[in-house]
Amino acid sequence: MEAKEISDLVYEVNSHLEKPELQRALKIESSVRSYLSDYLKGRGFIEVPPVIISVLTDPLNHPVYDPTIDYYGYKYSITKSMIFHKHILTKHFGKIFTFSPNIRLEEEDKAETGRHLSEFTQLDLEIRDATREDVMSLGEEMIVELFSKIKKTHSDDLKFFGRDLRIPKKPFERIRYKDAEKEYGGDFESILSKEKKEPFWIIDIPLEKREFYDREDPQRPGILVDMDLVYPEGFGEALSGGEREYKLDRIIERIHKKRQTEEQFKWYIEFAKDGLYPSAGFGIGIERLTRYICGLSRIEDVHPFPKVPGKLSL
Ligand code: AMP
Ligand code: MG
Repeated sequence: MEAKEISDLVYEVNSHLEKPELQRALKIESSVRSYLSDYLKGRGFIEVPPVIISVLTDPLNHPVYDPTIDYYGYKYSITKSMIFHKHILTKHFGKIFTFSPNIRLEEEDKAETGRHLSEFTQLDLEIRDATREDVMSLGEEMIVELFSKIKKTHSDDLKFFGRDLRIPKKPFERIRYKDAEKEYGGDFESILSKEKKEPFWIIDIPLEKREFYDREDPQRPGILVDMDLVYPEGFGEALSGGEREYKLDRIIERIHKKRQTEEQFKWYIEFAKDGLYPSAGFGIGIERLTRYICGLSRIEDVHPFPKVPGKLSL
């Protein structure tokens, strides 16, 4: 790297860290983390430490750069999500959550969305024997309680941002994926997100749109028992989740349907042979949540060292 590039980076980082907007946003994010953690612990969840590298990680449903680390003859990936570890954990712990750092080396075209970083944190939770309904109502209650607490404890910061944070009414609206697509076309998520005043669910996502681990509805082949929560005011996707496939034959069939290989998921398959439980859960991006609460246009404004896809970052 040239000396100029290094001094530019130092200047950029220091100016970013000095911004009152960032300082306020981080104060809010710090409370978001503790309120969510208290909320879940109060409901019997155990917090588990994050997994950073593993022989098993989320395949995702979109392309990202995918480096691996060769270590004593095994290939480790950097965690893209803890989906499989969560599921394995539910066999022994009924309700778990983690603040999971995810590395997704997103392609450069994601830089402009305002909601993609290559390094971010998911609050990832999973519950054994739970249904989609269970985790949707948990998610709704969690968000309503969080927003109410933030409004009470951070009124000064919200005022600074000029943000009138609305407390949504439960239950949140639900829209079926195919109905939304029919009415608004392929870009339905961003159209609806701009139109709506409160967060809403997109449910029943078609199989080809998601990874193999979300459970296919046995009554409606091709439709998954899963969901996304979308923020209003154009902020886009907030969280993704659903029920999981847990039977060995179903997992193998779904891997094949995605044209993926058993070799790729051999470790997970071994756990499925050993026996996995039905479970449901979701992962909510902490930076996106903070960005929404503050009403900021760009996600990098809530991160001290934002990794913007395609850009040099510290
Ligand atoms: P996913 O399971 O891929 O839907 O990821 C779960 C959640 O993590 C999403 O709903 C977002 O809130 C958040 N998330 C996913 N990718 C990114 C990213 N590149 N940057 C920031 N947040 C993300
Ligand atoms: Mg998603």
